[in-house]
Amino acid sequence: MTMRYRTLGKTELQVSIIGFGAAPLGGIYGPFTETECTQTVHQAIDEGINLFDTSPYYGIKLGEEVLGRTLKGVREKVILATKCGRITQTDFNFKADFIVKSMEESLQRLQTDHVDIFQAHDIEFEADLDMVFSETYEALQKLKKQGKCRFIGMTGYPLGCLKKALEACALDVCISYCHCTLLDQSMLTELVPIAERRGTGIINASPLAMGALTLNPPAWHPAPEEVKQAAMKAAQYCKSQGSDLSLLAMQWMLQQEKVATTLVGMSKLSELKINLKALESGPDPVLLAEVTKILSSVQGRCWPSGLWPAEA
Ligand code: NAD
Repeated sequence: MTMRYRTLGKTELQVSIIGFGAAPLGGIYGPFTETECTQTVHQAIDEGINLFDTSPYYGIKLGEEVLGRTLKGVREKVILATKCGRITQTDFNFKADFIVKSMEESLQRLQTDHVDIFQAHDIEFEADLDMVFSETYEALQKLKKQGKCRFIGMTGYPLGCLKKALEACALDVCISYCHCTLLDQSMLTELVPIAERRGTGIINASPLAMGALTLNPPAWHPAPEEVKQAAMKAAQYCKSQGSDLSLLAMQWMLQQEKVATTLVGMSKLSELKINLKALESGPDPVLLAEVTKILSSVQGRCWPSGLWPAEA
């Protein structure tokens, strides 16, 4: 299978259409071994994946430390992205002095002198968005001028919040997650047109809806119960047909021409293998039709995040 590349917004970065989400390297999706993570990261690079995304939040610094070690010797082959401002599940700090300190600490953990992409993480948790769009934004711009990062952005779940950010700031990139999957396609109509107008590259994330579109969703998943149940029904149906909902979800995802790249979280060689297999062919139309039917009653259902309600 041959990796394909697309341009990310106005950045001129040629990103692989599958990006490596390194949240699982912080242990948030269950246990992993660093040996297998290292093999998975190196195999992913050999197969043409060039975008790697992490955050100090993943495993509270562990995710960055592990990724830093696994990238030793191959750092220059990848587009490395990390974030700032989200400290724990409940602690946030988007003030300029903290952002600058966070950058220095991330660079140490990632064992590099610069990252390619640096983003304010989950801004919907900040009550004072005007502060984020002025002080945080200026801090990010300053770090870019200093060469600590090449491109800046903001991330979050509610599309309403991301739209505000794109209008208020000249962002190179943003991360939108769980809004371009078999469960919810609202990113394509709600965010893509604004991003195109504003010249912001969308890094799409969580094509498996943070594990909901697998047979092993995490216990902490924030989706409403009906969504999780419908997704499990779809996963079991695919299994009964000798197929795999995760593969189908990736195949569907990779057909979306408007999406430059999609981060999928991986820590295992078996997951990488399936996700790369999705490059080989489009989704089986019969299976896709049946899965679409199973998911129809929960299509587009969101959940609240931070200070934003479910509909935002
Ligand atoms: P995801 O939808 O990519 O799902 C990850 C889960 O699916 C993990 O449990 C993983 O082990 C499993 N998985 C991966 N491939 C599989 C396969 N082929 N078969 C079965 N299971 C498989 O969710 P995610 O990891 O949260 O999102 C991807 C990445 O996007 C993250 O790692 C992170 O880098 C980024 N992200 C950023 C934000 C943000 O900035 N706010 C939010 C969400 C995700």
